[in-house]
Amino acid sequence: MRAPQEVAVVGAGLVGCLTACFLARRGYQVTLYERRSDPRSATAERGRSINLALSERGLDALRRVGLDEAVMKAALPMPGRMMHAPDGTLSFQPYSADGQRAINSISRSELNRTMLEGALALPGVRARFEHRLTGLDVDSGLMDFDTPDGPVQRSAQIVLAADGAYSAVRGRLQFLPGFDFSQDFLDYGYKELTIPARDGEFALDPGALHIWPRGQAMMIALPNPDRSFTCTLFWPKSGPGSFDELDTAERFEEFFAANYADARALMPDLADDYTHNPIGHLVTMRAYPWHARGADAVVGLLGDAAHAVVPFYGQGANCGFEDCVELDRCLEETGDDFPEALALYGSRRKEHADTIAELALENFVEMRDKVASRSFLLQKRIEHGLERLLPGRYVSRYELVSFSTVPYAEVQRRITRQRRAVVAVALGALAAVGVTAGLLRRR
Ligand code: FAD
Repeated sequence: MRAPQEVAVVGAGLVGCLTACFLARRGYQVTLYERRSDPRSATAERGRSINLALSERGLDALRRVGLDEAVMKAALPMPGRMMHAPDGTLSFQPYSADGQRAINSISRSELNRTMLEGALALPGVRARFEHRLTGLDVDSGLMDFDTPDGPVQRSAQIVLAADGAYSAVRGRLQFLPGFDFSQDFLDYGYKELTIPARDGEFALDPGALHIWPRGQAMMIALPNPDRSFTCTLFWPKSGPGSFDELDTAERFEEFFAANYADARALMPDLADDYTHNPIGHLVTMRAYPWHARGADAVVGLLGDAAHAVVPFYGQGANCGFEDCVELDRCLEETGDDFPEALALYGSRRKEHADTIAELALENFVEMRDKVASRSFLLQKRIEHGLERLLPGRYVSRYELVSFSTVPYAEVQRRITRQRRAVVAVALGALAAVGVTAGLLRRR
């Protein structure tokens, strides 16, 4: 198939918009099909405002299409995490050894708006809102959409799915032989709450991601430019201290005041938020291959449609943005042979998506439990000490994930090598101490 010029991107979320930007810069005509109404004129759904931590991988992708500055105007840097103990004691842990590098708090809807505007400003990009994809024929590229004016059909030789974790496009690919798919839901859900501005000022330090680690559960809070904080409760769905158990405003308030006392004092709308905001699900989705070839069309998956991860490393969108960079690179390398580029892109990205999925699951335990322990704090101090002692040679996993673009699987391999080296040096030092002590005794 020769490089065709028209591409349909299903989903005008974060990854769909960035995909459109990259493709438009390569000269493609891109139509974004989005089930929602135009976000530039709509307000966010209640309890679904989500603010994201945007880090180097996402920023690197945005820089490549010239959107980083526009996006960063609405971002607030968070150079560390602030732990809130049950008695209200605060402790700050910088994310990087130099204490300077920061992840950035940004509202997802704001980010989406900026990226959509950036995409639509490019020649060749247009958007069709209130178009919900309901069917797709992989052979012909024929797509069915529900619209306010009734069902419509459109077709494209290249269909890219950026329609999120519950992707309808991926749903079609699941019928194809050889297509692997799995989904793992956590026994936890999430719910958004708000800490409003107090007397026009931030009620907490805005230079941190706040965490209330409580063993089996936690709450986090990220700052917003309007001086409020969006808080997210990550709680078990059932059992003690769960959403199921705390099913009335009274029960919830009593429990919350006992376990999150310092935050309670800052949340005048707590009961209302808890009662009315929905409970979100936390899921890891794995699929492969990330493309399918029909007789006259090719279909590809990007972002959450290919690999949804739980949010505990703050990497879902960052990882999706990296997909766009890799697809662009593969198009370049294959001379815009789309089927070949999609196959190459999937084969290169899959192990990295699998790695960040695992790291994100592990980080949940770290955030809700370990960050509060002394041994964790000691480990972080040692890590940062080693980073300062061996600059560039010892780098912590958090730094490599959040402040570099080293591919995720390579990060894991490097961490394993570093740990082996540290153990070898420690054993060597112990042996040297033992030999010296032996020599001294003999004297
Ligand atoms: P989405 O953002 O889900 O966009 C999909 C788009 O497709 C939507 O606009 C949707 O309306 C549209 N769509 C869906 N179905 C159809 C259809 N049938 N037809 C047409 N359009 C359709 N990531 C980070 O990097 N950092 C974080 O700190 C972070 N925190 C998070 C916190 C929470 C609580 C959650 C839930 C997620 C978090 N994430 C984070 C993950 C991040 O939100 C996702 O990875 C990211 O939004 C994925 O982008 P996407 O464009 O692939 O999918």
